[in-house]
Formats: sequence, C-alpha cells, structure tokens
Amino acid sequence: MNAAVSVLRPAPGNAATHPELTDALRATVSTKSATALALLRAAVAEFGTQGELAFANSFGAEDMVLTDLILSNALPITVFSLDTGRLPAETYSLIGEVERRYGTKLEIYFPDAGAVETFVRSHGINAFYDSVELRKACCGVRKMEPLRRALAGRKAWITGLRAAQSVTRAGLPVREFDSANGLEKLNPLSDWTEAEVWAYIRINEVPYNALHDQFYPSIGCAPCTRAIAVGEDVRAGRWWWENPETKECGLHVKEA
Ligand code: SF4
Repeated sequence: MNAAVSVLRPAPGNAATHPELTDALRATVSTKSATALALLRAAVAEFGTQGELAFANSFGAEDMVLTDLILSNALPITVFSLDTGRLPAETYSLIGEVERRYGTKLEIYFPDAGAVETFVRSHGINAFYDSVELRKACCGVRKMEPLRRALAGRKAWITGLRAAQSVTRAGLPVREFDSANGLEKLNPLSDWTEAEVWAYIRINEVPYNALHDQFYPSIGCAPCTRAIAVGEDVRAGRWWWENPETKECGLHVKEA
C-alpha cells in the first residue's frame, strides 16, 4: 500500500472508534444503556405501540446504539430512515447488514422525484456547494420533506443526537417539544460521550459504518461529508465549507 492510500484508508485502530474498554468505561456504558432502555420502554408505554413512536435512523454510530437497543429488545418502535439519493456506498452496505442481522426491513423514505428533478434542473447537480441557501434548499428537498412524511401522524420521535456533538447541540435535553414538527422529541443519548458510544458498539459487537474507521465521525450525504483531522470538531467534516453556526440540515433545528 502506498503512502497516499494509507492516509485515505487508515487501519482500524482509530482511537476514537476503538476506545480502551476499561472497567470504569464498561460500568458507565452499562448504567447509561440501562437508563436509555428504560427511557425507550417508558416512551412506548406513554406514546403507544402502533407506530405513534418512531426512531429516525441515519446509521451514524449513535444511531447504531439505538438501533441495537430497539431491535435487540424487540421494542415496538418504528425504525425509519431517509434515503436522500446521495448517501455513501458504505451507508447502503450498513443498511443491508442491519436488515440481515436483526431480521427486519427498515421503513425508508425517499425524496419526491419531481421536486429533486426541478431542483437539479434549476440549480445543478451539486448546487449545495454554491451557497448556504442552495445547500439548505437541497436538504429541504432531500431530507425535510421526506421527514415530514415520516413523522406524519406520530406522537413522538427518537434521535441519536448528543449534546457534545457540536456547538449547535450544546445543552440538548433528553426530552423536548419539537415545535417545528409538532411532536415530542426524545434524545436518549444526549449525555453520552463519543467514547461511551463506541464502547457500547465494541462490547455488543454492533455493526457500524466502515467510514468511521476512515476518520469520518459524522456521516451524512457523500458530497457533503469528509474525513476530519486529529483535533478537529467531530462535526467538522459536515458541510465543511460553511460556518459552524449554519451547519445543521434542518432536521434538528428549533424554531425561533
Ligand atoms: S447533505 Fe448535501 S446532498 Fe444531502 S440533502 Fe443536504 S445539501 Fe443535499
């Protein structure tokens, strides 16, 4: 393997994705897992078992923890995903792996084909690089509209957001009212650290996106995600050409 390739594909051993599994870390993860599972069970009891409660799975590391908690325990929570049409090949591989491992088919929502065609014909295939407005418009067509359909009729949704992920998520509560979408929003991993997420994945041998071992801590659409350098913020690889304050796709932004 030449030097250029080894930079692009570092060997597994990335300290972020392979934390040292000390007794203290195992104990913390065990406690927090039990708390998260209890929260999920309480949510089922509160909101119902007929699709009123749904988990938005984007297949990031945090979402794989929740995927495992929900599907391993056969909780009656709908697991859905948004396929923007621009996801990395590694994410599609992971979706297939999840379906095989847990013996299920996921509820996948696609963008409206006509809306995507209109956007691309008006602004170009990679218009998201041209301005924040066009980037948000692309997220609107490929993510926001499908999300509205995915959440229609639900009473609550679950996300894998963590407070420590970015400046835009500081102070994230475990539960909040999502006024933009008009339903409760639960963030069971809000106080988890990155090391705890990865410890859960290692201990429980949960499948995860191969890009994480190539220094992609946060993974979204392929053209809007890059690897990060040591010391960079974990969200630095998302829409890296924008200011940190603008870097949300709209899925998790509160109304002013
Ligand atoms: S992340 Fe990029 S490609 Fe994906 S919907 Fe947003 S702007 Fe479009």
